[in-house]
Amino acid sequence: MVDVYLGLGSNIGNRAEQLKDAIERIGQLNDVDIQHVSSMYETKPVGYVAQPDFLNLCLHVKTTCTPEVLLEKCLTIEKDLHRVRKERWGPRTMDIDILLYGDKIIETDRLTIPHPRMTERAFVMIPLNEIASQVVEPRSQKTIHSLVQSDETVVKYEG
Ligand code: ADP
Ligand code: MG
Repeated sequence: MVDVYLGLGSNIGNRAEQLKDAIERIGQLNDVDIQHVSSMYETKPVGYVAQPDFLNLCLHVKTTCTPEVLLEKCLTIEKDLHRVRKERWGPRTMDIDILLYGDKIIETDRLTIPHPRMTERAFVMIPLNEIASQVVEPRSQKTIHSLVQSDETVVKYEG
């Protein structure tokens, strides 16, 4: 079993319900066991950006899936949620990213792990730090705790 960290985000429709739905579907996958779920965080739009606020969270799972198979499963869940949403809410967003796959560094056409730019994104690092503060990011060889920076635009979401 490999320790994997996933980043989930949604910014259209009932964001919290959609995130819960995605977590439930991930939990139902064979070969994937959810270990920890972070709090949800709302990311306020910064500057000129006129799009809805995002809700983000991170998941710690254990899996026997290869990175490629796990990506396929995540993309299928994204698509399933998009389809449901399309009828009810119009265009919407469910993004599921593989942030960390054990201590592996992977660069293929379809996958970059650790997820590119994750260390610069407070909306990834702040929830990730809740559940993975002592985990080492393999490119920098630094812990998530040492990489996370506070950011007042990422606010814990209380529903
Ligand atoms: P974003 O990069 O903003 O999450 P998308 O979700 O639209 O954008 O990108 C989806 C594509 O990103 C997938 O088809 C996948 O091949 C590729 N990808 C590369 N690295 C990763 C990763 N670590 N996790 C998820 N998708 C990835
Ligand atoms: Mg994505």
